[in-house]
Amino acid sequence: MTSMDGVPDPTAGAGSPPATAPATHLDGGLVRRWIAELAQRLRAAEARLTELDAAIGDADHGTNMTRGARAAMAALAEHDEDTAAARLVAAVGHSLSRSVGGASGPLYGTWFNALGRSLPPELPATAMELATALGAALDAVQQLGAAELGDKTMVDALAPAARQAREVAGSGADLAGMLRIAAGAAEDGAVATIPLRARRGRASYLGARSEGHQDPGATSAAIVLDALRDAADA
Ligand SMILES: [Mg+2]
Repeated sequence: MTSMDGVPDPTAGAGSPPATAPATHLDGGLVRRWIAELAQRLRAAEARLTELDAAIGDADHGTNMTRGARAAMAALAEHDEDTAAARLVAAVGHSLSRSVGGASGPLYGTWFNALGRSLPPELPATAMELATALGAALDAVQQLGAAELGDKTMVDALAPAARQAREVAGSGADLAGMLRIAAGAAEDGAVATIPLRARRGRASYLGARSEGHQDPGATSAAIVLDALRDAADA
């Protein structure tokens, strides 16, 4: 193992498997670890997501997301081991669009699809390429859902994550370091939805009664990014 300037890394033992080093690129293997981690996280968070959606929605977000994760895992299993990251991410998007009900299916389907379409089609993505793709995926979701930052939706997690990713990738952060910052921004954005009044989606029908509850879509979006961060750090 060598560091970026070609100097051997003294902390890397001769026998240390590459998978234990933080990821420098988004490749097919990292996409698979991401979605496996996400499936596990969503199962663990299913009751909490349902509870959050029960407060300001229709209590189906937990089951919708775990169903989507199972479909995404099944879709990945249909692809060869050497399939490129871009294609795998797009396949996840298709499976979510097909399997997840409510508004979150099309929105997450669109996010993953746009992310996959924006990644390099064959080669593993660099931190900057992933940051650019996160921006494109955000744009696609905003185009579909017409939500702005502060509307108390998944955009409140995805937008700060994309902005931070772009910023730190631009200042030379590696992929894993960039994802730590981006996932942190997504989590902060999700928590910041608590006092907000919903202006999009089913929760907006509640008006002022939507205040004081964390948005379930922003919460699951933060989980999506934290699962990627965790997979990249592994
Ligand atoms: Mg719902």
